[in-house]
Amino acid sequence: MANIVEKYIELAKKRNPGEPEFHQTVEEVLTSIEPVLEAHPEYIESGLIERLIEPERGISFRVVWTDDNGKTHVNRGYRYEFNSALGPYKGGLRFAPNVYPGIIKFLGFEQIFKNSLTGLPIGGGKGGADFDPNGKSDAEIMRFCQAFMTELYRHIGPNTDVPAGDLGVGAREIGYLFGQYKRIVNRYEGVLTGKGLSFGGLAGRTEATGYGIVFFAREMLKHCGEELKGKTVAISGFGNVTWGTAQKLNELGAKVVTISGPDGYIYDEDGVSGDKVDYLLELRASGKNICAPYAEKYPNAKFFPGKKPWEVKADLYIPCATQNEIHLEDAKTMVANGCKFLCEGSNMPTTNEAISYLMENGVIVGPSKAANAGGVACSCIEMGQNAGHTVFSPAQVYEQLETIMVNIHKHAAEACEKYGLGYNLVAGANIAGFEKVAEAMMAQGLV
Ligand code: GLU
Repeated sequence: MANIVEKYIELAKKRNPGEPEFHQTVEEVLTSIEPVLEAHPEYIESGLIERLIEPERGISFRVVWTDDNGKTHVNRGYRYEFNSALGPYKGGLRFAPNVYPGIIKFLGFEQIFKNSLTGLPIGGGKGGADFDPNGKSDAEIMRFCQAFMTELYRHIGPNTDVPAGDLGVGAREIGYLFGQYKRIVNRYEGVLTGKGLSFGGLAGRTEATGYGIVFFAREMLKHCGEELKGKTVAISGFGNVTWGTAQKLNELGAKVVTISGPDGYIYDEDGVSGDKVDYLLELRASGKNICAPYAEKYPNAKFFPGKKPWEVKADLYIPCATQNEIHLEDAKTMVANGCKFLCEGSNMPTTNEAISYLMENGVIVGPSKAANAGGVACSCIEMGQNAGHTVFSPAQVYEQLETIMVNIHKHAAEACEKYGLGYNLVAGANIAGFEKVAEAMMAQGLV
């Protein structure tokens, strides 16, 4: 079976040259599901894996907009509609200068399994543009979003493909994108999630991903006979995910000692709590140089320019910034510092080499596609809220979110157990996510 899996990994590399992020996730997922493929030869016979690694549709388009000085700019927009076996394509839009097909395909592929793990009826997709929102005026952001939607609208719809935010796309961008969609199609419908509360958004969506990550981490610890209360936690990033994660960690009695930005990281021995957590929102709005202003405002905190928080001693590590922020050298430092738990907040923050090293050294790893699925789960609840022309209360949302996260952990733990892999959540999440998609794809025939 190893040979067959290797063949598909090679095929993905050959068909998608120069896209290492996509190769990385295909390798991680396919290696994990080997035992399932052994138990189901019909999957290989029906070309299921070959179909799975090929997006159902990939759209690339020109986005033309003018800046405040009247200068014309041309960006490239994307939407990869990866898999619709479980429901309409669902996944965020990322606006960042490093966006190219390899990043969107990696995120879209991950999204298939993440969405499946939520247990909700959503397929996988992802999109974005190589546009840098940093330093742009509000009017420029609006014109860019309108130009982007002027092409994207024809490919999406509440029962076809429902985008949301990701890095560089928050409530403001979703608002502009929604306004333009509505203007073009002349229909008021839940075509995007992460909307503002006044026009169909879900209460609690902003903090949902972070809260979900902490619920997942709590379940990991519980499984190992430990609790979050009193634990020291090193986290990275400063955006919405970091904010929600820090807030929930504090609420459950853990101590957050780090945050990070493009300029380095902050070590705050007193804990990032109370008004310091709210201050993260202000830092986020500023877009850059996060640590220097934090250290200025809270002089007890230490600023480590140009460094990553993985050198800090902690009981639990939660990367919340971006992909590949933990490399093998970081993993070695973490193990040397006695790390026992890593719960991935951002999408694919750990390289495959680093994950293997951590697991070989007894670290329990909670993979992002399981741990951060609370965000997209709440997006699906928002789709339901819009389709039902109703409004859910924050309490209703939080209750569903917690149940979903507990179930994701349970199903991932059961899946690895079933295949004799022990408590290996990386394999378990891939297997549990894959099993449902595979069953649906088999039932739907060769499409
Ligand atoms: N971008 C988020 C993720 O990585 C959310 C996607 C969504 O809500 O559709 O899961």
